[in-house]
Parts: sequence; structure tokens; C-alpha cells
Amino acid sequence: MLSRAATAIPHAATHGSDQIDTVATLTATLHTAGQVATVLLVVTIAVGLYLLSCLIWPFGKCRRCKGAGKFKSPFGRAYRHCGKCQGSGLRVRLGRHIVNHMRAVRGAGTNSTSKAGK
Ligand SMILES: [Zn+2]
Repeated sequence: MLSRAATAIPHAATHGSDQIDTVATLTATLHTAGQVATVLLVVTIAVGLYLLSCLIWPFGKCRRCKGAGKFKSPFGRAYRHCGKCQGSGLRVRLGRHIVNHMRAVRGAGTNSTSKAGK
């Protein structure tokens, strides 16, 4: 970036309009890069908060039985358990699956290292 600025100054002495274009392009590039960085930061924070919430609240409602855990028969008081959640009415959230996977990978890494050390 320094070499580009150094070449732009003598270039501007001969072609004034070109220098404005270069500066405009450079400003636009920096502005876009800044926007991308901001968006990435916001997305990273949002994902981090979601994973943290999945760490504290790992379960959601089962989507098939809507958290009831059972389906009532239209006749009498008979009911059956939901097959998807085995009657618990719970569903492991997607973020919790990711957290579990990351823990498993990290655990596997430390295990192999400790085995190699012995
Ligand atoms: Zn269910």
C-alpha cells in the first residue's frame, strides 16, 4: 500500500483526474473491506452467542409432537409416545450438536496426545 501511494503522487502531478479516480477506488475498496469486516464481526458474535445459548439451554421442543412427547388418540384417553423424541418432548438443538462435535474432536485430540506422550 505504501508503494502504491508513493507512485500515485508523481502520477498526480501529470494527470490530476487520474489521481482522484485512484483515491476514489482506494477509498471504495477500503470502505467495502471495512463493511465486510464489520459483517464478519457481527456474524461471529451472533454465532458465538447462539452456541453459548445452546451450551446453557441444549434442548428445544420436539418439532413432531410440539414438546408434548405423546400423541392422543381421538377416542378415549389412549395415547402413544412420540417416536422421534421417545416421549421426552425434547429435541437437541443444532448448535448443541455442533458444541458436542467440537468437544468430541478436542477430546479425541487430547486423548491421542496423552497416549503419544506415554
Ligand atoms: Zn416428539
